[in-house]
Amino acid sequence: MAKAKLEYIWLDGSEPTQGLRSKTKIVKDFSGKLEDCDMWSFDGSSTNQAPGGSSDCLLKPVFICPDPGRKNAYLVMTEVLNADGTPHVTNGRATIDDADDDFWFGFEQEYFLWDPETELPLGFPANGYPRPQGPYYCSVGAKNAYGRNIVEEHLDLCLDAGLNVEGINAEVAAGQWEFQIFAKGAAEAGDQIWVARYLMERTAEAYGVAVNWHCKPLKGDWNGSGMHANFSNTALRTANSKAFFEKVCNAFAPAEIIKAHIAVYGADNHLRLTGLHETQSIDKFSFGVSDRGASIRIPVYTVDHDWSGYLEDRRPNSAADPYKVAARIIKTVKPVS
Ligand code: ADP
Ligand code: MN
Ligand code: MN
Ligand code: MN
Repeated sequence: MAKAKLEYIWLDGSEPTQGLRSKTKIVKDFSGKLEDCDMWSFDGSSTNQAPGGSSDCLLKPVFICPDPGRKNAYLVMTEVLNADGTPHVTNGRATIDDADDDFWFGFEQEYFLWDPETELPLGFPANGYPRPQGPYYCSVGAKNAYGRNIVEEHLDLCLDAGLNVEGINAEVAAGQWEFQIFAKGAAEAGDQIWVARYLMERTAEAYGVAVNWHCKPLKGDWNGSGMHANFSNTALRTANSKAFFEKVCNAFAPAEIIKAHIAVYGADNHLRLTGLHETQSIDKFSFGVSDRGASIRIPVYTVDHDWSGYLEDRRPNSAADPYKVAARIIKTVKPVS
């Protein structure tokens, strides 16, 4: 049997935004199953995760899928453990309290395809600006949509890998795109977002294009990038009660809870949550039906289904860690449901 390539992926200790790292393990006669993926280790002193004197950190496999971009290959998402087997302080996945996978998450991941030489989005001239935003959202044609070849290749890779991508669209700014991923289970939703981000980085890399995950890479009248978190648990999905949805939304309202959420909703979010460009201000909290200027939007789907369904927290940004976002939402929602 051919030797298999297993790409072990993990999150490093970069601050304030953790980055993707990965390395390849060659395994003989590999079954393709998660339980047959061995633990591995890496040099944590090179990733801001350990001191040089005792540098080993452990990689615990948590999610596996085929890697359609390589021969005989798999992508293995891992979480980082200390040498003694306890979760590393950078391990957001370990903080998720959803053992029974009651929480479903759909993340809308926005990002910019970015020219590493001009430090501008694809579609931006090296000097000056393209036409103002308006025509780019869900656009077609060489004057408005930039980088579609990369986006399409990424979508096919994700689908062939078995990731549950639910859609893609060109976004409001030039060179800005979105993909949506949904999973039943908070940890798995995070796993799939991280693997999809990895595949996006690798796909764009082959074209000499970078991916800019920052929430506000362009100053001025250009949309920032979010990662709206759509979520539900059994209680929300079967509520049949407007009052219950309002109770859950109100659990997000106290000042210290707003602070705790913003703390894990991605770096520099004050640059994006300004009250403009379909956002609520970072220091305010509001919710409303179909309200894209609210912190939490109650989708019309939920109202149309007699107040059973899901909610959308619009505040998490494109560079947020979906594990930490999900963990925090669950912490707020569980006690009231
Ligand atoms: P919009 O751009 O209008 O905010 P999208 O269609 O881009 O909406 O994203 C909506 C997301 O909501 C999708 O990722 C979808 O999977 C997710 N979603 C739908 N139903 C639920 C649910 N019951 N629980 C959690 N997420 C859900
Ligand atoms: Mn969307
Ligand atoms: Mn969007
Ligand atoms: Mn949305």
